[in-house]
Amino acid sequence: MASQDPVNPSHAAFDLFIQAQTCKDVQRYFAELCKQVEVDPKDFRSFYTKLKERLNYWKAKALWTKLDKRASHPDYEQGKVCAKNKCLVLGAGPCGLRTAIELSLLGAQVVVVEKRETFSRNNVLHLWPYTIYDLRGLGAKKFYGRFCTGALDHISIRQLQLILLKVSLLLGVEVHTGVDFQGLIEPSGDKGWTAKLHPGCHPAAAFQFDVFISAGGGRFIPDGFKHKELRGKLAIGITANFINRHTAAEAQVAEISGVARIYNQKFFQDLLTATGIDLENIVYYKDDTHYFVMTAKKKSLLKKGVIKQDYSDAEELLAPANVDHEALCCYAREAAHFSTGGQLPDLQFAQNHAGRPDVAMFDFTCMHRAENASLVKERKGKKLLIGLVGDCLVEPFWPLGTGIARGFLAAFDAAWMVRSWGKGTAPLKVLSERESVYQLLSQTTPENTSKNYAGYSIDPSTRYQHINFSSIKANQVQHLYVVDDSK
Ligand code: FAD
Repeated sequence: MASQDPVNPSHAAFDLFIQAQTCKDVQRYFAELCKQVEVDPKDFRSFYTKLKERLNYWKAKALWTKLDKRASHPDYEQGKVCAKNKCLVLGAGPCGLRTAIELSLLGAQVVVVEKRETFSRNNVLHLWPYTIYDLRGLGAKKFYGRFCTGALDHISIRQLQLILLKVSLLLGVEVHTGVDFQGLIEPSGDKGWTAKLHPGCHPAAAFQFDVFISAGGGRFIPDGFKHKELRGKLAIGITANFINRHTAAEAQVAEISGVARIYNQKFFQDLLTATGIDLENIVYYKDDTHYFVMTAKKKSLLKKGVIKQDYSDAEELLAPANVDHEALCCYAREAAHFSTGGQLPDLQFAQNHAGRPDVAMFDFTCMHRAENASLVKERKGKKLLIGLVGDCLVEPFWPLGTGIARGFLAAFDAAWMVRSWGKGTAPLKVLSERESVYQLLSQTTPENTSKNYAGYSIDPSTRYQHINFSSIKANQVQHLYVVDDSK
């Protein structure tokens, strides 16, 4: 009988880490891997190099090749350009993690704090071609074999977070989950900028940093930033996730990559006649779940008993007490059934983080956008550069799928800003350049951004077609450099 090779424990730990499907497992197997190869994850500067040397596993090699290629980009100056910077990133959503990866490639020490303990969002993100290219370059397919196979151009939020968490950890980023950021603590005595965290005794509370990136999502606005409200006409979004059993019958059902009322009046009229459901648009993606996102008209939600009472204020209208959850489930299921021609045989809801049917209703009437993307605070001679990325910079309208695409663009732009900071560029110049680039973000589409995806880097000129780094002048951003030594 042929004898089997004993399993190398470090190889086994690596395999488990790569395949881990929950945030907790990723952290657990990462700790195990570090133990097996005897590399201290706190040794961020040489962590990745030592891990590569000591693991010596053929399965890891293809991943190292990808990460090495990325890391060798001249923008990072061999990981030396930000070697003196310490960055705190708030939020381990996709944009926080994507930014953390870039900052670590620039050579900075990076700590991420995330208040949640789990990654539980089934909802699916549409990926622009450049984001697919970018994620492939980080080894997405090694972590998630089904990543964008064939014509697929979407991924569940949780799956994307898992990929980015794994890459972050491999590159030496410290990620702490179950840690709530509650504000910045100004320098005192010898101590620099730190964060008020809950639990307060968490070791990350002692971390002193000179860069703070807020990627807290939706309506998280750090002190000193103002948000503009963009109020449109009433827009009510519904998301629903059904269990995907990956059967042959399910595989046959065609996705709906976005049907808007203006393009297919007949479909929406038929839906209304058959079910009483009145929609502006609908998207269906087949991913880990069968995912639907739709914009529904208020009148039909009232008629179908989903919304109990009519209010002119959207917040009151969609308050949990005014929504019949059962009726919402029926509404979403009926819309899903009709729009897929009744071909999804068993529309059973997947569960959300609370163990309830994963269906939700959101108000897109009022979207937020930060007035500025950056700020410098100086206290007791200690400067802190603050940047916003992701949804807390510009809130996306989900059915259009702009969240991740613009979120990653902003992550790269923020990294470019930190690079200038690391090079010792004057604060007003760093701010004016960042704000000049930010002007372009809301207008970006897959059509008006560069098609040379291989050429994309954190340098904005590789991505935006018409860029003027000084459209905003230093004297226009003086209010973003806040020096206060009165305290
Ligand atoms: P997020 O993904 O929201 O991540 C922010 C992170 O910061 C979270 O993990 C949060 O827990 C953490 N955080 C917040 N405050 C603190 C704090 N004080 N301390 C520590 N951590 C903190 N987009 C779509 O295209 N389609 C969808 O169907 C869709 N559904 C969504 C459903 C929900 C419930 C949410 C919140 C967002 C959804 N989005 C959707 C938006 C999409 O998830 C974002 O565009 C994308 O995830 C990029 O976001 P981000 O990283 O900026 O923020």
